[in-house]
Amino acid sequence: MAFKHKLKGALREGYARLLFHTGLCALVDKLMPPRLTILAGHCVRPAGGEWPAGEHLPPDMSISERKLDEFLRWFGARFELVSVGAGVERLDRGLSGKSLVALSMDDGYRDNARVLTPLLASHKASGTVYLESRPLDERKVNWAHKYFWILARSTPEDFVHRFGELTSDKDAFHALNQHVCEGRVDLRYHLKLVLKYDAQPAERDRVLDQVFAELGGDERALCDALYMDWDEARAMQRAGIELGGHTVNHPILAKLAPPEQSREIEDGARSIERELGQRARSFAYPWGRRWDFNEHSSRAARESGFGCAVTMHAGVNTPKSERYTLKRLAIDDAAQLHLLAAEACGGFELLRRLGVNLSE
Ligand SMILES: [Zn+2]
Repeated sequence: MAFKHKLKGALREGYARLLFHTGLCALVDKLMPPRLTILAGHCVRPAGGEWPAGEHLPPDMSISERKLDEFLRWFGARFELVSVGAGVERLDRGLSGKSLVALSMDDGYRDNARVLTPLLASHKASGTVYLESRPLDERKVNWAHKYFWILARSTPEDFVHRFGELTSDKDAFHALNQHVCEGRVDLRYHLKLVLKYDAQPAERDRVLDQVFAELGGDERALCDALYMDWDEARAMQRAGIELGGHTVNHPILAKLAPPEQSREIEDGARSIERELGQRARSFAYPWGRRWDFNEHSSRAARESGFGCAVTMHAGVNTPKSERYTLKRLAIDDAAQLHLLAAEACGGFELLRRLGVNLSE
């Protein structure tokens, strides 16, 4: 299995390099039907100056301004750069001519307002930022940010020990403790997965709140370091950037009953409408993997007036794509332009049509 996985990765890499370095990309782009490629990131790390969010975020949540600038220059020279909402409208009209690329960023981090907005303006491009509404409305952050903050100040072992002392969720504690006892590499990541998928959400949030407070955490200050405010969101809207929905609390929707899912999606949509004067067109499922949302989530997004919803399933979109499971390509500092380019020019879709699936 590991060998097969490695072989697939090598073929994927070689094929993408071939398309990218020989100019075959342009030829494949012409041969294949027009498409909408949506890039998905979180934060943009400024080339110079301060970036207060940096010390509170794991490295896979940011891309450097320089790298993103390079990506936008390459895509902007070959495709039309649009927002997700505008791109989907073009899909609805059948999409002809140049293919489209939409940059999207999730959650509503402050650097999107301060770094991304001028960067997009310098490329005369639009884009979409998906806003989690509670940080903007109440200056409160979700559990994952408190977890990252705690682990920057304590060892994973100490954290698990304290979690065990405080929680009534003994199953979650045993799962966490098992990872510690096994001495897993990437322990922080595995603990996060237990907190995300196995722990009881309300109890997890309560315990993290307490540990965060015990270590002297200031939620307002943390939120200010990470998230933009509504004034910044309005300035982005004036600059032509689309603001989309991303729920209130960033839950795993699939773990919620349908009425709770609807509330999370609708209340987030209402906050955006109240602050920005219009309903958002586009929605992003929190976390976005296929097990993080379900058909109720898609229905709730439609009922809240969103015309489309994006996932973290890798691939590109065409007029035939289902509008509530649109695909995106993740971008962070590890992202490689030749792989993104091979997707965006339709190269991997071409192979799929030939019966070869080299997608991730
Ligand atoms: Zn998110």
